[in-house]
Amino acid sequence: MSARIIDGKAIAEAVDQEVARDVQSLVQTYGAPPCLCVVLVGEDPASQVYVRNKGRRTQAAGMVSREIKLPASVSQAELEREVKALSVDPDVDGILVQLPLPAGLDSDAVIACIDPAKDVDGLTEVSAGRLVLGRPGLRPCTPTGCVILAKRTLGDLQGAHVVVVGRSILVGKPAGLLFLAEDCTVTLAHSRTRDLASVCRSADILVPAVGRPEMIKGDWIKSGAAVIDVGINRVENPIKGPGATRLVGDVAYDQAVEVAGAITPVPGGVGPMTIACLLQNTLQAACARRGWSVS
Ligand code: NDP
Repeated sequence: MSARIIDGKAIAEAVDQEVARDVQSLVQTYGAPPCLCVVLVGEDPASQVYVRNKGRRTQAAGMVSREIKLPASVSQAELEREVKALSVDPDVDGILVQLPLPAGLDSDAVIACIDPAKDVDGLTEVSAGRLVLGRPGLRPCTPTGCVILAKRTLGDLQGAHVVVVGRSILVGKPAGLLFLAEDCTVTLAHSRTRDLASVCRSADILVPAVGRPEMIKGDWIKSGAAVIDVGINRVENPIKGPGATRLVGDVAYDQAVEVAGAITPVPGGVGPMTIACLLQNTLQAACARRGWSVS
């Protein structure tokens, strides 16, 4: 069997277009688009590329994209002042602080300065609390993207056994809660899980979010299961020669594709969904803050 490939890029483009349509309708009704502000600290090349992509897609969806760039030498107090100023700026609907921050800066303290109504990354304690309580709120983008990919591929997820490997605040834990909210039966596995291969084999939907290249082998996957691979790992690419690299997921893709029923590639699976969900969250935040509704 060869698995159906879940085209994250195409699904993300569809979500972007849905957001763009809604933004257009908001602008027609209320005369102003939502505004997303990204705070980038330091010169990390991967973060710079990511922030550029966010800006491009925010503008393509018809929203205002603002960027605040600060040097890696910025003090904790100055960074917190900037984020607090955005929190009270009436023109800003969404605030995203690009993580990780350079060494020496306390990201928890910075996140605590984000007005929860503008927390489009879903990382504040208020957003996490609402997720746990099952109340409406802004959800973390990458795990939301995983659920969208699963739903658009499989339809109703009710009763499916989802195994999430990883329990980070950013991905694993919220992914578990979001699949639970879809009436799935959820197992959260982690580095202390016993017989991880058997646990993975019990999954109808397997969501590895570990950060270990190709750790999950083909025989860890139940025949016909859906695999949503969150991992993004840069490894050497011997085919292209010394120094060349390529991206792989947490799943040994060539093996998994022969066993799974559906699978996300890396790159081109979960990755593109993260920004799509950020745009969705910005739209949601703008509507909630300003009392807008899409007609
Ligand atoms: P973290 O390092 O914060 O968490 C990794 C998790 O994996 C931990 O819960 C850890 O368990 C678990 N783990 C580590 N080793 C093992 C093992 N041998 N067996 C089972 N579980 C293990 O990573 P993140 O959650 O931030 O990211 C995970 C991956 O997702 C990374 O590759 C990252 O690049 C990628 N990512 C992709 C995004 C996207 O847009 N597609 C966005 C964010 C992340 P324990 O808690 O016990 O230590």
